Amino acid sequence: MSRLVVISNRVSVPTSDVGGAQGGLSVALAAALRESNGVWFGWSGEETEHFSGHINFQRNFGVATATIDLEPHDIEEYYNGYANRTLWPLFHYRVDLAEFERGFAGGYERVNARFADTVVPLIEPEDLVWVNDYHLIPLGQKLRERGCRNRIGFFLHIPWPPMPLLLSLPSHRELVQSMFAYDVVGFQTKDSLEAFRDYARVQLGADFGDDDGVVHEGRSIRAIACPIGIDTTEFRASAEGEVARGVFEQMRASANGRTMIIGVDRLDYSKGLQERFLGYERFLAANPDKHGAVFLLQIAPPSRGEVQSYQEIRAQLDALSGRINGEFADAEWVPIRYVNKGHPREQLAGMYRAARIGLVTPLRDGMNLVAKEYVAAQDAKDPGVLILSRFAGAAEQLADALLVNPHSPEELADAIATALAMPLTERIARWRRMLDNIEAEDVIWWRRRFTDALEASQPQAAN
Ligand code: UDP
Repeated sequence: MSRLVVISNRVSVPTSDVGGAQGGLSVALAAALRESNGVWFGWSGEETEHFSGHINFQRNFGVATATIDLEPHDIEEYYNGYANRTLWPLFHYRVDLAEFERGFAGGYERVNARFADTVVPLIEPEDLVWVNDYHLIPLGQKLRERGCRNRIGFFLHIPWPPMPLLLSLPSHRELVQSMFAYDVVGFQTKDSLEAFRDYARVQLGADFGDDDGVVHEGRSIRAIACPIGIDTTEFRASAEGEVARGVFEQMRASANGRTMIIGVDRLDYSKGLQERFLGYERFLAANPDKHGAVFLLQIAPPSRGEVQSYQEIRAQLDALSGRINGEFADAEWVPIRYVNKGHPREQLAGMYRAARIGLVTPLRDGMNLVAKEYVAAQDAKDPGVLILSRFAGAAEQLADALLVNPHSPEELADAIATALAMPLTERIARWRRMLDNIEAEDVIWWRRRFTDALEASQPQAAN
């Protein structure tokens, strides 16, 4: 295997050899970096007054990381600005929330150039370079401009929007053209891949070759769908481990015979939390016999608090959960337990297992790992039911979930009623088929599929 250079906005430094509390992505990449003696490059998350290009090298549990600090205006324009106020909403189909400011676009270009300037000296001729996510779309082109002839791949963790939406981005053409500097471009779903191909065909007049090839102005890239998975073996083991078992017992005791429904999401407008609460409210209104018999535990740790749309969604959810609880609660029972605190993954594993229903209803999501974790955490003899948005990337693989339109309170309410009434045999049959997929297409499969495609590609000549 060639040496791997992974580049992403942030670097997740391993805290142990095996993972555990860490995400599957970080564990899978750490394993690949260890095997290939590679390096993981990105922003430290720290601020510096003047960008110097100084790299902080570290080695933790056999994984080499290289990080840089960014200036306050870099963070404001590139990270809070273009990445999280322009691309994130637009790529999640929220043109209404996307902010188009020249300053953001300039900061995005500048930081991508800074990444390229700093990382280029670390890249050896035979290395595979793997760029991750929407923060760094033009990085491949910037690396080529600096003479990098390596095989370079790009993986997008969020959805790729349909062409008519992407056209609202002032520099859409330059952004997509820059992707032809890569050798392999990976998307989470066939749906995203199709949207990319559609743009390339209509806007760029691209041609399509065999073997996933997309050809534009003499450059040929492979564009593939490569859905990310979780570390299924590790997660199933952690759901049976001591921490998860303790949390499971606590949850069962505090449920006091009531059936638990769980939602776990970063507090983000793409997650459909308001729509979920309204669907649950509809369920309660239509099923008075279930009052006092079920409750929804919604874990929603705040994120990106510097961005106004995130402050607004938080305030709206505070109000909505308060209203629903005020309307339906009695002295003994509260229908929504709304928790803004984050929890370590081992604890979540126990909570998932204690919940009869996993409610995963984003309005749009690249993949949604919580859906896969919920399935992986279930007890084979008595599994819960996954209610999943059709608009989560995970729905392409998890067709045995109860698939819903998250915008429809009626569909959500009906799905909750169906899940509560589902017989054990059907729950087991659906769960088994979902688990088969989650086991076959886990995070190690994902990483291999992407790096194999990259390794098989032909190195490109520099521009
Ligand atoms: N997560 C966590 N603690 C929490 C809430 C979430 O560790 O309190 C983890 C969760 O287990 C999952 C990840 O954060 O692995 C969220 O990934 P997902 O793809 O569902 O959504 P994202 O936040 O990346 O949009």
